[in-house]
Amino acid sequence: MRPPRVLSVAGSDPSGGAGIQADLKSIAANGGYGMAAITALTAQNTTGVAAIHIPPSGFLAQQLDAVSADIQIDAVKIGMLFTEQVIHTVKHWLADARPPVVVLDPVMVATSGARLLDPAAQSALRELCSAADLITPNLPELGVLNRTETATSLAAAFNQAQRLADTVGTKVLVKGGHLPGPDSPDALVEPGRLSPIAQFPAVRLPTRNTHGTGCSLSAAVATQRCLTESWTAAVGAAKNWLSAAIAAADVLDVGEGPGPINHFAQLWQNAENLT
Ligand code: PLP
Repeated sequence: MRPPRVLSVAGSDPSGGAGIQADLKSIAANGGYGMAAITALTAQNTTGVAAIHIPPSGFLAQQLDAVSADIQIDAVKIGMLFTEQVIHTVKHWLADARPPVVVLDPVMVATSGARLLDPAAQSALRELCSAADLITPNLPELGVLNRTETATSLAAAFNQAQRLADTVGTKVLVKGGHLPGPDSPDALVEPGRLSPIAQFPAVRLPTRNTHGTGCSLSAAVATQRCLTESWTAAVGAAKNWLSAAIAAADVLDVGEGPGPINHFAQLWQNAENLT
């Protein structure tokens, strides 16, 4: 099977842990050919975001058109969009290009506290959800998309995800990483159901190096959806890969703040075993 061509439409993190840099590593580690159209430039490192620059949305449209005019895109992962204008540009392009797999990570605020979405663009992002096949909000993002408080229990998170899935007509991956306690369970929710179609239990891994985990997971799921027969299988494969990448994060030792995950941990381990 030829490797799936996966396009990341997202912001740049020059320190390499999140955004398009993380997406390209994630896509490659999951067996895809990665491409990237840049929505935003951030000046950031592991300790925080110092500045954000949004190139003209007309130039984003040119990046997207250049890729789709030439290359058959198998999947798209959408990340940081920041402004309403950028969101509209992506929405119009999606309607034209109609890629078969669209995963939207509704990025709003970085772990460091920096805003990665203009609050005035929240309604536009809510509307964009309907153009995706799968949305991957963390619990605070899920709350904002539902216009309610952040869920503090798994049951409340399931309810919010079901409400969002029913409202926007799209699957939602609920991520329990922000819940307190020793576990970090995820679940896949589909419109028109009473309970999740699949649950993915996991223990919380003891590391503070989780910068870019959400970006990496959504890019991995988009890639795996091209390689597996269902969304459940895609999320399962992506989660297994992500767990190994988080478990091996500390050896990278990048920066003074929460560092990146180790995208190629499994590949590097396999290569070492061969020598
Ligand atoms: N920077 C960019 C460009 C991103 O897209 C994201 C992810 O959503 C982040 C930073 C935030 O990463 P984290 O919250 O994992 O530190």
